[in-house]
Amino acid sequence: MKFCSQCGAPVTSRIPEGDNRERYVCGNCGTIHYQNPRIIAGCLPIYNQQVLLCRRAIEPRYGYWTLPAGFMENGESTEDAALRETLEEANANVLIRQLYTVTSIVHVNQVQMIYLAHLPEPEFSSSDESLEVQLFHENEIPWNDLAFETIRNALRFFFEDRQLGTFPLRHIELDISEKGKLITREGTAQ
Ligand code: ZN
Repeated sequence: MKFCSQCGAPVTSRIPEGDNRERYVCGNCGTIHYQNPRIIAGCLPIYNQQVLLCRRAIEPRYGYWTLPAGFMENGESTEDAALRETLEEANANVLIRQLYTVTSIVHVNQVQMIYLAHLPEPEFSSSDESLEVQLFHENEIPWNDLAFETIRNALRFFFEDRQLGTFPLRHIELDISEKGKLITREGTAQ
């Protein structure tokens, strides 16, 4: 950030009084510009024994498969966002069953929340955001062509948990190590 979004004057990075980390502070109007993680919400839509995936028509990861998910908009709940993204990306109307994965993607300052969702009818189609939308059985999942580690985790957990017949909320933390390697920490809450 270079300029204040309130008044247009230059900002500087410093620790405000009573705070403990650097913020962008406007030298003119004094506004402190807090920057916080953004939330991504999406669905893992299930129809019979199959899951619905979308092949991305947008960067990043153009052409790779993903679950329908995207950034929350102001004025909506996480459930609203997950349903909207599923409609926008897959033209699919789903019913949310439960929150399933919460991933802190620490190195990019994002939190991703994926809901298990029921697709009542096999009705969906490609969109401006998806080249293809398709149902997959477990043995058909394009594991080598998934767009994101978060999607890989959600699908892996889903097929593991389906064997056990229970779907505990999964907490995952993704971060990049000092050597540049992606680290995954995971746990469940009962
Ligand atoms: Zn200002």
